[in-house]
Amino acid sequence: MKRRKFLLSAGAIGSMGVTGRRLSRPEATLNVKVWFSEQAAAYAGLWRRVSGYLGRAFRRVHRGATVEFGGTVRVSTERAYDLVVGGEWPRRLVQGSAGMGPATPCDDVNLLVTDEPLTEWPTGAGVPHVAAVGGGAAMASLPPAGSASTVVGRTWGTYAMQVALHECGHALGLEHDVGSMRPDDGALVVSPMVSGYPWETAAVRAEHFDYEGSVCGCRYVEPAGREPRLMLRYSQCAGERIRDYRGGVTPW
Ligand SMILES: [Zn+2]
Repeated sequence: MKRRKFLLSAGAIGSMGVTGRRLSRPEATLNVKVWFSEQAAAYAGLWRRVSGYLGRAFRRVHRGATVEFGGTVRVSTERAYDLVVGGEWPRRLVQGSAGMGPATPCDDVNLLVTDEPLTEWPTGAGVPHVAAVGGGAAMASLPPAGSASTVVGRTWGTYAMQVALHECGHALGLEHDVGSMRPDDGALVVSPMVSGYPWETAAVRAEHFDYEGSVCGCRYVEPAGREPRLMLRYSQCAGERIRDYRGGVTPW
């Protein structure tokens, strides 16, 4: 959940070199590919939940969205943020690692899900085309997407799934200023690109969430004691940008 600008300066993508190719795929497609760490892969039903919730969120905003399974990968840590910012996951997509070939990336979003509990911030990271999130166990415990509302109370499971949507948004070039928040009685309904930021410390908000509102005009407000309610779909503002996403240059 760090800002892309910071991540780029940290060299996560820079380490992959500059030999990208400009995408010429049909505008009608948007590809999301999901991998699991070996520990995350041990949770029965995790793929059904991840594909169910991500598929629902992406198909709402892009008719050509597909969510496919990339496979299980061996990683040196379950710390999702470190895997992206330290460069291990982006490098793995390009070069492979000792004794293992590269994980074949797709053009748009390549999300790694790990078994890290989401009790500590940062809970994941996303840079162009590449994302990772913890919370595998919590996501596996969710009810099927088809029986769940797209606006839900905050549990470890719903929070993890919303962070997954958040990091996928970063992989598509979205920032924290394309979200929405809406007071609703004692709750504050937040979209994926806002996520848990309104409840973070002042220092975290000053560094990563220093916005008066979204670029689409939604005003960002203080929680003022309101409980979080989480949208497991993208806001209209984010959705329009995902629909118009053209990909740019891939690092592979
Ligand atoms: Zn973020």
